[in-house]
Amino acid sequence: MKAGLSDALDYQIKLRAANLLREAKHAIALTGAGISVESGVPAFRGKNALWDRYPIEEYATIQAFVRNPQKVWGFFKEFYEILNRAEPNTAHIALKSLEEAGILKSIVTQNIDNLHQRAGSRNVIEFHGSASTLECLECGSVVQFEERMLTAPVPTCDCGGLLKPQIVLFGEAIPLSALEAAQHESLLCDLMLVIGTSAQVAPASMLPLVAKQRGATIVEMNVEQTYLTGYVADLSVFGSVGLTLPEVAHLVSGDYIDTPTVQ
Ligand code: ZN
Repeated sequence: MKAGLSDALDYQIKLRAANLLREAKHAIALTGAGISVESGVPAFRGKNALWDRYPIEEYATIQAFVRNPQKVWGFFKEFYEILNRAEPNTAHIALKSLEEAGILKSIVTQNIDNLHQRAGSRNVIEFHGSASTLECLECGSVVQFEERMLTAPVPTCDCGGLLKPQIVLFGEAIPLSALEAAQHESLLCDLMLVIGTSAQVAPASMLPLVAKQRGATIVEMNVEQTYLTGYVADLSVFGSVGLTLPEVAHLVSGDYIDTPTVQ
C-alpha cells in the first residue's frame, strides 16, 4: 500500500517536471558527473577507488601537471581508458530527444567525457573543457586525442612542447567562451534542469542561482537530496537519472494519460 502511494507521488512529480518542460520557452540543462556514473565514468567527488589512488592535489591540478607531467599522465591514461569504454546512457539519450523535440535549447555540462555529443546532443557547452582535444603548452596548437598517446610517457607536440588534455584542472580558469555561453543561457532560460550534480563547485554553482534570480524554474534531478533541494530547486525528482530522465522525456512527448497534478 505504501509503495503504491509513493509510486503515485513519484509519478505526479515526474508529470509536473514534464509539464514544466512543455510549458517552457527556453529550457536548458546543467549536467554533472551524476549523469555519467551509469556510463562507468567516476565522479571527482565522493567515494571511488580511482580518486583514492589519485588524490586531486597530486594529479588534477595544473601545478601538479607542470611539476611532474609524466606522473600526471599516468592518471590521464587511466582516465582515457575509462572514457574509451564509456557509452552514452539512457539519460544522455533522453536529453538528446528533448533537444530534437525543440524543448531543450542547450546543455551546459561540467563533464569532460563527450557523452552528450556522442548521444547526439548538438548544443553542448563544455564548462570544464573536453578530454577529446589536447593543447600544446608551448605553441598553443590543439590536436585531437589519439590512442597512440596512451603509449607515450608524455605525449608531445610537433614543436616538442607538452600536450595537456583541454580539461579544466583545479587551479585553471573556465574557458572564457564556455563561461560566457553558460552565463548567457542561464540568463535566458525560463527552466533549468539540474541533472546529476549538486552544483557546489564554483563557478558552475552560480548558474542555477543566476537563472533563479531571473525568474527561471529550477528542476533538480538527482539520486538523492542535495543542498539545492527545497532551497534553489522548485521541484526535485529523485532517483537514478538513467531511469527518471527517460520517464520525464516520455511524459513530455505526451504519450501518456493526463491526470490532475497534486499541488
Ligand atoms: Zn607545440
